[in-house]
Amino acid sequence: MLELSTPVTQLRMIGVAYASRLKRLNINTVGDLLYHLPYRYEDYTILSKIQDLQEGETVTVKGVITAIRNVYTKGGKQIQKATVTDDSGEIQVVWYNQPFLTAVLKIGTSITLAGQVKEYHSSVSFESPEYEIIKPDSILIHSGRLVPIYPETEGVSSKWIRSRIASILFKFSPKIDEFFPDYLLKQNNLMSEKDAIATIHFPQNLQAATDARKRISFDELFFILCAATIRRRQWKRNITGSLFLIAPYIQQINTFISRLPFKLTSDQHAAVDDILNDLGKNKPMNRLLEGDVGSGKTVVAAIALYMAHCNGYQSVLMSPTEILAQQHFQTISTLMKSFNVQVGLVTGQKKVQSDKPLDIAVGTHALLSEKMHFPKLGLIIIDEQQRFGVEQRSILRQKGNNPHLLVMTATPIPRTVALTLYADLDLSVIEEMPKGRLKVKTWVVPPEKRDAAYFWIRKQVMNSRMKQQAFIVCPFIEESETLTTVKAATTEYMRLKNNIYPDLNLGILHGRLNQKEKQKVLDDFKTGKIHILVTTPVVEVGIDIPSASIMMIEGAERFGLAQLHQLRGRVGRDQNQSYCLLFTDEINPNIIERLKLLETIYSGPKLAEYDLKIRGAGELFGTKQHGQMFLKVADLSDHKLIECVKKGVETIISFDPDLSSFHLLREKVQKYTIQQVSPD
Ligand code: ADP
Ligand code: MG
Repeated sequence: MLELSTPVTQLRMIGVAYASRLKRLNINTVGDLLYHLPYRYEDYTILSKIQDLQEGETVTVKGVITAIRNVYTKGGKQIQKATVTDDSGEIQVVWYNQPFLTAVLKIGTSITLAGQVKEYHSSVSFESPEYEIIKPDSILIHSGRLVPIYPETEGVSSKWIRSRIASILFKFSPKIDEFFPDYLLKQNNLMSEKDAIATIHFPQNLQAATDARKRISFDELFFILCAATIRRRQWKRNITGSLFLIAPYIQQINTFISRLPFKLTSDQHAAVDDILNDLGKNKPMNRLLEGDVGSGKTVVAAIALYMAHCNGYQSVLMSPTEILAQQHFQTISTLMKSFNVQVGLVTGQKKVQSDKPLDIAVGTHALLSEKMHFPKLGLIIIDEQQRFGVEQRSILRQKGNNPHLLVMTATPIPRTVALTLYADLDLSVIEEMPKGRLKVKTWVVPPEKRDAAYFWIRKQVMNSRMKQQAFIVCPFIEESETLTTVKAATTEYMRLKNNIYPDLNLGILHGRLNQKEKQKVLDDFKTGKIHILVTTPVVEVGIDIPSASIMMIEGAERFGLAQLHQLRGRVGRDQNQSYCLLFTDEINPNIIERLKLLETIYSGPKLAEYDLKIRGAGELFGTKQHGQMFLKVADLSDHKLIECVKKGVETIISFDPDLSSFHLLREKVQKYTIQQVSPD
């Protein structure tokens, strides 16, 4: 008996080759295949007579093949030319490089064609239309309806997926059991799960598609929120092993703050208050500190680290990269200098070797190593938390006895989104930048102004009084820094060095340099030996070089707004005026408009909100990040739906906190919970 859990290989129509390709789409079982959802539809609902066809229309036509042949082009390629006739007229059809079609579409075959009508030699034609052979009592799936378009992978087309799903949907969708109670469906006007799955693949009309998506979006948001709510409740049940006293050390903390070279902003103060308040409880802190690049999160972290030290606890500050860890190590060491605190650096390259146990360990993943022991670990701080998985967080936690946890992020996330995705965390946001900081003047630079911009940069950099320095960021090519990215950056570096700025000192920074090389480049940049630093986009995270005041970004249209904002945050770190130049060769006015938002908007979360609206949630988070649920359909900017989901979660959890009477639901929610290992 075939079930939803049956591997796709057992379906007669899916062979081994396809099964292995499907793995790339995370499809292993029949159920996975049913849950491979379309992301849009091609509207082929309009059926038209051939004589009524108008150029530009997207339509479906029914007819009979009356001629078909293979033609060789001069280039040695094959094209397939056919004539299709109905009772009103005939239309010319052409396909490219599909010689097998002459065998499949024989003269006399009844078919449908769907696509956009072109005009060719003043008669109508189709170019590479969808086609579907009509058999007695077969239903149309590739034409004559809303046709689903799926995420594809090499060797697996939407059409292939569509036909496999069509052939199993009728049999298997009834096996999908409902996991929500009736009242929840009624309250929120949701269709049943099995209907939603059937409908989302082959909707009768757009409204039905929307209703089906609403149900599945509700599911996704529900799982995330419910998992987070359960985590939060369990968390609250834990008693921390690290009991911090706050009052006795407030004086010391105030001294620490008063010796800072600047005054804390009121948002920084508020965040410190939130944190000290958490630390004073017998429940472990579980807090997210969100603040734009340069908003001053490090010093807030330092105050918390110092409080841990006052209480006789060790603490850990973990960063995603060596460079950041180095930088934090320097900052924290400097801040702690006059307070007799042992600060150490723990990275892959450098492990502390000292007999004295560390009070504060600053480092990278190396902190997670089995060899690292922290007998009195009371506080964990994780910088750029989205770069670490929940698993890594829990490894660190297990090194202590329910230690307090603070995670920090500069990823601009709209507040509502943060509250949804990280509903298990309490939230502190630093919105206000330190005083005296000027806004980074931002311009979108069209191709015809490129030379002028290069000239302007040269003038700024050569101006001996100002001593300005510039970053040039190469276009975003791939999600992670591969050789391709490095090559592109290197090519650009050579071009600039040879053709544009032969008389200036240029440096290049990318992930393939080893630690020593990286450090040298950064040091040379810091001390002003390098005027212009060419980098890959990966350098996005946390480098602090206050003297750099120009940020030039190539291929700006390839970045999300929030990403650009983060890059822009690399400059404008001191009192001087800074500049951000966004280079683009695009002329599409929508894209230019989008980029121009950066000229006037300086709030990270707000720009992130635009990304969410314009480009969807994938843009905010990428798809590959650890610990990040990938939403297939849910729209995180749909506040109304999120509110409904929240209410639903609260209702269910309030009378059945462990979901013990909702087995199926619990299973689904657990998928979103397992990574969160309980700390004890
Ligand atoms: P981020 O939030 O990106 O981690 P940092 O903590 O690196 O920001 O701070 C950026 C810079 O701002 C640092 O050089 C830091 O010393 C400085 N800074 C932090 N807080 C203030 C403040 N209240 N006033 C002035 N400068 C500050
Ligand atoms: Mg930082």
